[in-house]
Amino acid sequence: MTQLAAQLAAVQRQIAQAAVQAGRDPATVRLVAVSKTHPAESVVAAAEAGQRVFGESRVQEAREKIPSCPPGLVWHFIGHLQKNKVRQALPLFGFFHSIDRTALAQAIDRVAGENGQTVEGLLEVNVSGEETKHGFTPEQLRAEFPALAKLPHLRICGLMTMAPYSDDPEEARPFFRALRQMRDELQSAHGHPLPELSMGMSGDFAPAIGEGATLVRIGSSIFGARPLPPE
Ligand SMILES: *Cc1c(COP(=O)(O)O)cnc(C)c1O
Repeated sequence: MTQLAAQLAAVQRQIAQAAVQAGRDPATVRLVAVSKTHPAESVVAAAEAGQRVFGESRVQEAREKIPSCPPGLVWHFIGHLQKNKVRQALPLFGFFHSIDRTALAQAIDRVAGENGQTVEGLLEVNVSGEETKHGFTPEQLRAEFPALAKLPHLRICGLMTMAPYSDDPEEARPFFRALRQMRDELQSAHGHPLPELSMGMSGDFAPAIGEGATLVRIGSSIFGARPLPPE
């Protein structure tokens, strides 16, 4: 077994443990392997070990990398997206984790419609209120959700957040709980299903799963440290 395959297996085991501890079926948590900054060879190694869903955060990097990767993989966009990159992103990605403003959602919907595509997306919420973080404030989201939920070519199927950085994963738990509560509130207020919660990274995926994560975005625990700091 390669080192990467061993690390991937360890992460899968930890995901399953966290799910069982939370009384959840491990099959309800999907692993998005975040391959940003890592070469296509790393993706190939993870794919050979059975990983199917990969996350990238830059359109240019993805445009160069994805054609060198095996066909049949599923690519999720997880980064901050400029509106003028939507047209380049749409042929590569069918799932967007980080829709952080209404204008971006409208741009994705419009271009997807022109392409005859329908894509899925999550709304990024800045639950911590940190100024350096992207995302809707809870107030903005409450106000703008009805229009977002109606977009015909962008199906909003959940929420995403990033917790503030901390050495102690448990410090992230209140932010994950807040995202779940926000989801529950929107779902019951608007009757729009929001089954997906994208939360938890290498340092904090266990409490995220405890609070209901259905998608965990994990990079460095699988692929090793990145040459550049996370964005
Ligand atoms: C880089 C990144 C991750 C993965 O971070 P790790 O700490 O390497 O697991 C997850 N989510 C987003 C939005 C990222 O940009």
